[in-house]
Amino acid sequence: MPKERIPRQEMPRQAPEERRRNFKEVALGYTLEQALTEAQRCLQCKKPQCVEGCPVQVRIPEFIGALRNKEFRRAADLLKDKNNLPAICGRVCPQETQCEARCVLARKEEPVAIGRLERFVADWERQNGVQVPPKAPPSGKRVAVIGAGPAGLTCAGDLARCGHGVTIFEALHAPGGVLMYGIPEFRLPKDVVEAEVEYVRSLGVELRLNWVIGKIKSVHELLEEGFDAVFLGTGAGLPMFMGIPGENLSGVYSANEFLTRNNLMKAYLFPEYDTPIKVGRKVAVVGAGNVAMDASRTALRLGAEEVHIVYRRSRAEVPARKEEFENAEEEGIIVHFLTNPVEVLGNEKGWVRALRCQRQELGEPDASGRRRPVPVPGSEFDMEVDMVIMALGTRPNPMVFTQSAGLERTRHGMVVADENTGRTKLERVWAGGDIVTGAATVISAMGAGKRAAADIDAYLRGERNQVWWVEPEAAAAS
Ligand code: FAD
Ligand code: SF4
Ligand code: SF4
Repeated sequence: MPKERIPRQEMPRQAPEERRRNFKEVALGYTLEQALTEAQRCLQCKKPQCVEGCPVQVRIPEFIGALRNKEFRRAADLLKDKNNLPAICGRVCPQETQCEARCVLARKEEPVAIGRLERFVADWERQNGVQVPPKAPPSGKRVAVIGAGPAGLTCAGDLARCGHGVTIFEALHAPGGVLMYGIPEFRLPKDVVEAEVEYVRSLGVELRLNWVIGKIKSVHELLEEGFDAVFLGTGAGLPMFMGIPGENLSGVYSANEFLTRNNLMKAYLFPEYDTPIKVGRKVAVVGAGNVAMDASRTALRLGAEEVHIVYRRSRAEVPARKEEFENAEEEGIIVHFLTNPVEVLGNEKGWVRALRCQRQELGEPDASGRRRPVPVPGSEFDMEVDMVIMALGTRPNPMVFTQSAGLERTRHGMVVADENTGRTKLERVWAGGDIVTGAATVISAMGAGKRAAADIDAYLRGERNQVWWVEPEAAAAS
């Protein structure tokens, strides 16, 4: 008789009716028993495809092997060998399209829950004392990392382990980037982010907060003042709007501002914290990505009676992670598909009173491969709301580019950098993460930080091609 396979272990979660009014973490993490059972499902493949699916190449079968032998400390060390932020990745990585999509089990059944096991091991280490790995002897070289998001933290941590002196310059008063100001507490608790930032610091990285590069100092000045290399990881924090009438009314927020006020500046604790926020009774959130899910679920937790997501395509095209979209619907968020705002209407006091929308239908595929929404004439209707949150995507904030001649950018404002090394067209300046790709994922930003750190290290040691920039076409032809 064939051996019965162990089913994938479900993650315990707070019940929807309970969690929709609190900011505590929704997913509660595996118990020890669940983690050990799930670890048994891994086949310990000799050529593990899952590792190919991870942008930082976590040693997946090895850490899972150590876990199932109950060698928790070793499992944590194996994880951190490649990943400076494992408790964060275990929570927010889109595993279903990364490592888990490549797991050999996914061909016939559900893949190993790699992310959940990563979270279990990282949480175990946080509770039992974090061990700092050995470092290379000091190289005498200094690197400036701009931005303390996942790209910058990864790059800085790896370079510090190589023996270089690393200083991170961060514009905000708290490090972490989107992990701190964007992703809400109920998905990624701040103490988890703080602990992993502390780990990067413990590797010897100096962190300077409230340093806006481009205002206080330019990239050129950092190089002139003795830094041997600069890594730009300033993300894409500039929100986009639709350009429709009424967007300047009171009660219209960008998702970035709304989430920053809540997450980083703790508006939900007002007046204990002095950041005020006014939340509507009926809230409309425009967009259906991860940011829209976070904004809508935050509005609900702040006390809104109804929260409506307005999305111009259909359910099949929703860009948010499946898990987060399901969580939002379970909590009672109302989703309007094939609906597009055309105007925000205000009352006599200049405050939002409604969102005028138009029905859409799907036409031919556009450049993204998704079917294009086409307006249905005469289908306009007014949705009565007193607050609108625009979650439509972001672009790099241009501040960091002040006085940085030689740094080439695309027409959308992203920095042009080599995909494999992170080198920009400005000598001794590397870049990676959302500043290069536009809004993407935590793990893709970390992968870029890691590749850049490897190239910076090799460059500073004189071990890698010192020809600074080769056009991709010329490189392909040679
Ligand atoms: P960031 O995280 O943006 O960090 C950049 C840092 O640079 C910031 O701290 C910023 O203050 C600093 N900075 C900017 N300009 C300057 C300057 N001039 N000088 C000094 N410092 C500066 N991804 C996932 O994988 N899973 C998710 O579930 C997920 N959810 C998300 C939810 C929200 C609300 C948002 C907004 C994004 C989400 N993402 C998610 C995307 C992910 O967070 C980003 O792709 C990732 O954080 C990009 O990392 P980064 O290091 O490039 O930039
Ligand atoms: Fe998977 Fe993310 Fe962990 Fe890599 S870091 S193994 S992609 S969960
Ligand atoms: Fe384990 Fe799946 Fe990776 Fe194989 S591919 S080592 S089964 S996680």
